[in-house]
Amino acid sequence: MTERVGTEPSVFTRILRGEIPSEIVLQTDDVFVIRDIAPQAPVHLLVIPKTDEHPDVVALAERDPRLLAEMVEVARVAATQAGATDFRLIFNTGPGAGQTVFHVHAHVLANPGTGLDEATMAGGMPDGEEA
Ligand code: AMP
Repeated sequence: MTERVGTEPSVFTRILRGEIPSEIVLQTDDVFVIRDIAPQAPVHLLVIPKTDEHPDVVALAERDPRLLAEMVEVARVAATQAGATDFRLIFNTGPGAGQTVFHVHAHVLANPGTGLDEATMAGGMPDGEEA
């Protein structure tokens, strides 16, 4: 299902409000982390700003680079908490790249202990497209 920018709260805002069930595994004042409902790797987390004002990472980088840097740091901490020192950080940007929720979020993909193999890495992209 693809969400469009509009007046409706995003699925992530609804999770933050407790309207949709999900466990918040880590949070700061500005960022929260949940497990992806359709994991593409043994560890698949979503790092999400609490504000929904930035639809994608390009807008976020232009408007609030400090918040983008905080997302990266929170991703590192969340991956470490999940047992991974190495991880992929993916921002699907635009529908053609598989973005379905237009509330910026980073995918954290990791395979603790074994590293990410090629199949898992391809799985991080929509429809198994090459990165
Ligand atoms: P993207 O396709 O990059 O916009 O990523 C959106 C992600 O949100 C997808 O990987 C979905 O599986 C995930 N997602 C959608 N709804 C939920 C939910 N209720 N709980 C956790 N993850 C979700």
